[in-house]
Amino acid sequence: MSSGINHTGWACPICDQNKITSHLMTRVGGIGAYCGNGHTFNDMEQLKNSHPRTLPVPKPIPKPQEGHEEIRVSVPSKVRQDLQAKFGNTLPENVGAVLRAVVDPRTIIVSGLDVQQIESWTKLTILDAGTLKGAIYSLTMDLKQAKENLASLEATRNGKGITVNLDGLEEAIQQRADMWGITNSEVVKQITDMGIKNGWV
Ligand SMILES: [Zn+2]
Repeated sequence: MSSGINHTGWACPICDQNKITSHLMTRVGGIGAYCGNGHTFNDMEQLKNSHPRTLPVPKPIPKPQEGHEEIRVSVPSKVRQDLQAKFGNTLPENVGAVLRAVVDPRTIIVSGLDVQQIESWTKLTILDAGTLKGAIYSLTMDLKQAKENLASLEATRNGKGITVNLDGLEEAIQQRADMWGITNSEVVKQITDMGIKNGWV
């Protein structure tokens, strides 16, 4: 351990006699073990043979990262249990990440209930912020396409275009469209134009 002080995992036998629980420690480079109440045991072998009471070694408190600070929060016990169940050992990191995200004034939190409604309206599965963004993009593109189709349909109705049944001619028109590098509709327009100007019809 970097502090140079280690827990032996034993309780001080003298303190134990006084009904006080005190951890026996060793110091790196030092001789024997000692407790916080000034009892020292220079002969480790003898100490071991006296079978001192064992104590769980407390986990070292992790040092906060450089530039980080600890904050204490109080939540209902149920929330604490649910957080533990969801994140396990990575709970502090995850809570830290959530707090960093909510600091951004543009961050929004979408509740599970809202996600359910969005899914039922869109028939899309929303797993996270990424899929929500993807779903909105896809719907926006669909709407844009639908508006363009509608505008084109309205232009036809308004006399700027006519609807023609070209049943059986699709392949021939497509071949020319590919050859000339223009759309099917432009092929039909050009052929009709040529026919009228040249007196074919
Ligand atoms: Zn002691």
